[in-house]
Formats: sequence, C-alpha cells, structure tokens
Amino acid sequence: MIDFSFTENQLAVRDMARDVSNRVILPTISEYDRKQQLNPDLLPAMKEANLLGFCIPEEYGGLGMDYVSLALACEELEYADTSARVILSVHIGLFAMSLLVWGNEAQKQKYLTPAAQGDKITTFGLTEPAAGSDAVGIQSTAVKQGDHYVLNGEKMWISLADVADYFYVFAWTDLEKKKKRDHSGLSAFIVERNWDGVTSGAIHGKLGVRAGNTGWLAFQDVKVPAENLVHEEGAGFKIAMFCIDQGRYTVAGGSCGLIRACRDAAVDYTKERETFGQPIAKHQLVQQMIANMEAGYEYSRALTLKAGWLKNLGKRSTKETSMAKWISCREAEKAAADAVQCFGAYGFSDEYPVERFFRNSKGASIYEGSREVHTLVQADYALGYRVDKPLDRDLPPVHDDSPTVERYPVV
Ligand SMILES: Cc1cc2nc3c(=O)[nH]c(=O)nc-3n(C[C@H](O)[C@H](O)[C@H](O)COP(=O)(O)OP(=O)(O)OC[C@H]3O[C@@H](n4cnc5c(N)ncnc54)[C@H](O)[C@@H]3O)c2cc1C
Repeated sequence: MIDFSFTENQLAVRDMARDVSNRVILPTISEYDRKQQLNPDLLPAMKEANLLGFCIPEEYGGLGMDYVSLALACEELEYADTSARVILSVHIGLFAMSLLVWGNEAQKQKYLTPAAQGDKITTFGLTEPAAGSDAVGIQSTAVKQGDHYVLNGEKMWISLADVADYFYVFAWTDLEKKKKRDHSGLSAFIVERNWDGVTSGAIHGKLGVRAGNTGWLAFQDVKVPAENLVHEEGAGFKIAMFCIDQGRYTVAGGSCGLIRACRDAAVDYTKERETFGQPIAKHQLVQQMIANMEAGYEYSRALTLKAGWLKNLGKRSTKETSMAKWISCREAEKAAADAVQCFGAYGFSDEYPVERFFRNSKGASIYEGSREVHTLVQADYALGYRVDKPLDRDLPPVHDDSPTVERYPVV
C-alpha cells in the first residue's frame, strides 16, 4: 500500500516547528544573520515547543513521535533559516537518536533524558582540522588509565561548539590501529563541557549558517570516566556512521524547506516584477527556473519521506538516506542560485532573503557527507560494490497510530 497522507501527530509536529519559525526566527533572522550570532530566544522557544526531543521515546523524556515528523520539523525550520534546522541535526539526529540505540541504560538516563527534555543541548564532534570526509584521519586519542580515559585532541567545524553541554566525541583508543588506519581502533565517548581541559570557540566569517554557532573544541588531558565510553572500545566508527545516517536525514528534510522557501520567494517576486510590459513570471525562461524548483521540491521530499518511512519500520536506510541527502542538497543549491537569478540585482542584496538562502545552501553539500562522498556511495551501490546488511542495532520501529489526515498535503 502506498499512502501519501500524513497523520495528525506528524502535522502537529510540523505546526509546532512552523509556529517557532514564524514567531521566533523569521522576525529577527536578518539581524542575527548579519551579527553572526545565534538568537538567544531560539533554544528556549524550541524547548518550550517540545522540539528538542519529540522523536525520542517518552521513557527518555521525549514525545515518542515518529521519524517522518522529524523531517517535517526540519523542513519547517529550514524554511525560515538553515541555522535553526542545524540545531535539530546535531541535537536529535547526531546525538540523541544514536545514544538511544548505542547508549546503555545509565547513559540514557543521565544524558539522553535531559537532552530530549531540552534541559541540556548536545552536539557531535568527529571532524578535526586535518580530517573531515576521511574520518579515519582524525588524530584525537583517548588513552585508558584505570577507571578513566585521558582525552587529547581538537575538533573543528562543530555545530553548537560554544553552546552545547554534552559532546559526542570520537577518538582513537588503540594507538597501534591508529598507525594502520584501522577504524576498529576508534571509540565514542560522551564528554561534558564543564570538565577540566575542555575549551571551545566560535568560527566567524562563515559563508552561511551565520545565525548559527559553529566552532572548535579542544581537549587537553581531559579525564573521561570509563562509564562514558559508548557501547564498547572499537565501536566508534560504527557509531559515527550510524549518527551520520540520522544526521543526513535531517539535512535532507531541511533542504526540502530551503527549496520551498526559494520557490515561494521566487513565485511572489516574479509575479510582481515587470519587464517588457509583463510580469517576469510570464517569461518562459523564468518559468523554467520556477518549474525546476517545484520539481526539485517534490522529488527531494519524496526521497526524504521514503527514508523516514524505512526508519519508522526500524529498517536500515543508509542507501536511501544518502540518496535523499545528496539530491535534496543538490536541488537546494540549484533552487537558491535560481532564486537569486529571478530577483536580478535585488537578489544580490540582503534586502531580500534569497541572498541568505544562496549562502546557506552551500554548506549542506559539504557537511554530513560531501556531494562527492554521496556520489561515490551511490555509484558503489549501483555497481554492487556496496551492499548493506542489517545493523546489529538500529532504531526501534515507531508506529504512529494517530488518525490519518485524508488529503495529500502539499506542505
Ligand atoms: C556549517 C558546518 C557545520 C558542521 N558541523 C559539524 C559538526 O557538528 N560535527 C562534525 O563533526 N563536523 C561538522 N562539520 C564538518 C563537516 O562534516 C566536514 O566539513 C565534512 O565532513 C567535509 O570535510 P572537510 O571539510 O575536511 O573536507 P575534505 O574532507 O578535506 O574534502 C575537501 C573536498 O575534497 C572532496 N573529497 C574528499 N575526499 C574525496 C574523494 N575520495 N573523492 C572525491 N572527492 C573527495 C570533498 O568532497 C570536498 O569537496 C561542519 C561543517 C560545516 C561547514
């Protein structure tokens, strides 16, 4: 059975996110984008709206909503600004959903529950100054000494680095395997900001996501209690890839919002602006750009919801998530470039939002697997060089039994 409708719960989550976008983000986004600062009202508003843990089970402080809801919330937030969606990407996608699967009961009580309730903010630290796509190239180490590990290293380009309370940190625990680049020597830890030896700072002068916080983390002889090792020594790479499977999904959902924002801005403007005696929307080459945005939105969303459907079933969706992320980000970049084109010189100015959309659209083709990485991954699947087996652990299936809304909602 194919069902394109949404449920009441899914639309309720969408509406919560839409409300935060309209009330808190959109009225001040130009100001915070220009100041290169996170709006201080945003995280409290997201917490109040239960947006920081809605798809985490109720027993761990969430609302137990499904994963389609997560894509819809990301779409709504990124419709307003990419920086707001990034919060869900790192806090829910990269941290909470993974800890739900890989954390032990004590870790879930201590770290997942306050995160899902929005009392603590979390993020994910894999990238380092010298290693991004090549995760095995990281240099951070965590050396076991009695009942703790001594963590040293530096992380770079970390979303919410200056804001988060807890970090998912990846480091080598087996130094021999580090030399051989054998990823089974990597481990994952939960690190708290207020521990001795943890410092952070913000990166300024970014092309996009300016209203968000992105920065660096440094760990100098940080004593990480052994109970903060996630799962087991050597599981770090597997866990990082699992985190990214969820993070990419949120980026795909968000990119649908960015495409829609570009389309809406372009539709409104091109119906008003006139050249040669008629609205530019009547010129066929302008219509082609609008039609491409419309098509890009539809198929990006279809791919994203397919990945969400698999996640709801508790089935592995690595291939489908990669496809959704790759295509949605590509379409968002194209839509943003065309939106600027539709606005002509006004698109070149920060008087209109399309200039911000254009700058924001670039990042998603770099983070959570660059455009090239996803191209290679999809080629490997098509060629049969890569075949996914079910994971030893995966998301618990989620069944949303709220009534179906009997119409096909366009947005
Ligand atoms: C706004 C923003 C937020 C971020 N947030 C986080 C975060 O919260 N946590 C985190 O850990 N990281 C984060 N990152 C980092 C991001 O994940 C990395 O930037 C990304 O993995 C790419 O790594 P890199 O920048 O080192 O580029 P590199 O890996 O050095 O790649 C440079 C270029 O080479 C290409 N390339 C690399 N290898 C190949 C290959 N084999 N074949 C073809 N082309 C290749 C890449 O596609 C890219 O175009 C963020 C980045 C940005 C911009």
